[in-house]
Amino acid sequence: MFSIKVKIVTAYTVVFGALLVGFALLVYETAYDNEVAKLDARLESHAVKISAALDEDRHKMSSLGRSFLDSVQTGGLPAVKVRLLTIDRKVMFADPGFVLDVDMKWNQGALSKLQKSTVKIARKKHRIMQWPVENDNGIKYLIQIAVPLHDIEDNLDPLRILFLIFIPVGLILSGGAAYLISVLAFRPMVKMVMTAETISATTLDARLGLPKVKDEVHVLGRALNEMIDRIDGVIKSQRQFVADASHELRTPLTILKSELEFAHRMVRKSTLKEALGTSLSELDHLSSMVTDLLTLARLDAAQMKCEMSTLRLDEMIVECVQAVRGIAKKKKIKLKVFIEEAIELKGDQKKLMSVLLNLLDNAIKYSPKNREVSVTLALGKADPRKALIVLVDKGPGIPLAEQPRVFTRFYRGSKSRSETDGSGLGLAIAQRFVELHGGRITLESEEGQGCSFTVELPLSSGRDPG
Ligand code: ADP
Repeated sequence: MFSIKVKIVTAYTVVFGALLVGFALLVYETAYDNEVAKLDARLESHAVKISAALDEDRHKMSSLGRSFLDSVQTGGLPAVKVRLLTIDRKVMFADPGFVLDVDMKWNQGALSKLQKSTVKIARKKHRIMQWPVENDNGIKYLIQIAVPLHDIEDNLDPLRILFLIFIPVGLILSGGAAYLISVLAFRPMVKMVMTAETISATTLDARLGLPKVKDEVHVLGRALNEMIDRIDGVIKSQRQFVADASHELRTPLTILKSELEFAHRMVRKSTLKEALGTSLSELDHLSSMVTDLLTLARLDAAQMKCEMSTLRLDEMIVECVQAVRGIAKKKKIKLKVFIEEAIELKGDQKKLMSVLLNLLDNAIKYSPKNREVSVTLALGKADPRKALIVLVDKGPGIPLAEQPRVFTRFYRGSKSRSETDGSGLGLAIAQRFVELHGGRITLESEEGQGCSFTVELPLSSGRDPG
């Protein structure tokens, strides 16, 4: 739909335009009526002259013609046409071109007085005046005189041209002014929207900039900032709760694990041993989930510091691949490493290794037996100031519809949920760790063809995430 700015400009222009046109019509009509009134006065004086000339010699009436009319001074009236009618509207004399419809709207009942009207003769407007006269024999006639109005219209042309120029120019100027005012009025709002767009659960410390003038926008911004304050408070206390709960759970879980391991070692009965074995693996799952939750809670609360050091990415990749060789072997998965460039950068070794291990672990976990997983390290082709680590597997791939969600917390693919262990937190944590380094993880995948995860890391992050 139309923006508020467009609506304001349109409404303003329409209202202002209507006022201007109304005003112009009023001025034009008044000027026109004034001119017609002046013409009427001259017509009346001409009528008086004709009547006076006829009064001198009433016999002239029956022989009324051009020669008589020419003897009556017109007083500068332009192109006066005269017509003499009997009272029953029979034309006695008419100037050429005076073909006025005899049934025009004269006040038929009042033939005794002077009447005026504006009519069209040969498609041109004329001002007509008629009045009755009487000859010696008491026979009544009607005299009609007509003058064209185009002179008046011509005289008012400059006014019309003025309006035709002034109205569009006025509208353009007023529309421009309305647009400018609305842009200025909305500018603080646009700034607020831009800030609001950058605010997310992780950047709730940011607040909307308020305009200095304490207007409606200021009030709206203040109300929104107060709302963000409240949401921030709630989210912070929730994060604190998750962090505290995860932290508190770790000690009893560790004790439980060592007790279960002890029992598992001691017990001889196979059914019991099996039950304890299952409990231990579930406990491992629970412990890793609690650890992941604590990691995320600390990341959210920005309590997690990065321990930056200079790293050799190529060496780190080889180390991670070595670490997962055991589980890959169990599934007969071939691990290949391609180092195109030995790359050094500043980063947090533990976190970057955890990212790589998570991606490798997923690639192996979700690939069927006897497949291949490759890791490539290279400098960005488009931007050589970036290191790219690309992990490609030939596993089941991720359907297009699921791809945007794999980095969200607790998201597990429909198949993964039933077929593999996991918590759905690995990729969410990996993404946050990479973001802490100023980089990003992207995924390309086609269902049935495998996945390709790319970790992009700037060689100099430009900011110290720690
Ligand atoms: P988890 O592996 O614990 O389920 P992750 O956050 O690591 O959680 O992954 C989220 C989901 O993304 C997985 O449940 C799985 O559906 C999908 N996924 C991740 N990596 C792969 C992969 N290499 N191949 C297929 N699916 C994958």
